[in-house]
Amino acid sequence: MSITSDYHLHTPRCKHAKGPLEAYVEHACQLGLRQVGFADHNPLPNKLAANVRMDESELDDYVADVLRLRDCYRGQIEMLLGIEMDYIEGLEAYCEKMIARYPWDYILGSVHYLDSECRVSSWPRRFTGDATALYRRYFELVRKLASSGLCDVVAHFDVVKRSGRSLPAPLDGDLRRTLAEIDRADLCLEINTSGHRHPELAKPESYPSLPIIEQAILLKIPLTVNSDAHEPSQVGFKFTEMAGKLRRCGCRSVATFRQRQRAMVEL
Ligand SMILES: [Zn+2]
Ligand SMILES: [Zn+2]
Repeated sequence: MSITSDYHLHTPRCKHAKGPLEAYVEHACQLGLRQVGFADHNPLPNKLAANVRMDESELDDYVADVLRLRDCYRGQIEMLLGIEMDYIEGLEAYCEKMIARYPWDYILGSVHYLDSECRVSSWPRRFTGDATALYRRYFELVRKLASSGLCDVVAHFDVVKRSGRSLPAPLDGDLRRTLAEIDRADLCLEINTSGHRHPELAKPESYPSLPIIEQAILLKIPLTVNSDAHEPSQVGFKFTEMAGKLRRCGCRSVATFRQRQRAMVEL
């Protein structure tokens, strides 16, 4: 395997992932990864979407757990501290404070909701409405996330397709503008392999899809491959296959992180 880090691991604190943290790390060691990082869903104020994330009162313990594991596994695998941060309009200052309080190695930025009350999902199930409006709003928020300066990596770029609807052709320009914004902000783009596990997709594939990855490579946007593991066996999911695809697309290096500094390593 030539992808040697996985930065997108969840923990049971988010209420929809299972398995002890050690089991995730052990699986990463078995695969021969050099770095592994937890990036659980960040807490939000006022119990927003509290059913799929840790409580604010748990954040200290989450950070302490990861830092403890860093010591336990020193010499075997490098443990990194990350968080998957929801981008929600109006909560930028809240997120900024959360980011400033802990020694993160990286921040993954995600758009899971299209509204500030977390009532409208980015991938409404069995969506039968206006796909053009859905995609347009989603990409608008990804551009705001990219220009917010809050994150290092844009996670699962086209997760809106989990609605079961594919990108409406007229929105190709929106997609390109969004990639251009990521480029302008000098952010890394995540290739998230979890789409291969999601039955809602029209066909199993990564987020983003290969044609979008090809565009990102042409723009020289740094890439990182992550599993979005919600259970230990999912760590490193489809990494060998993805490394092959990336090489065939002309990608020669991937991004690594430490203390919010990015470095490129050979693929
Ligand atoms: Zn999750
Ligand atoms: Zn996510």
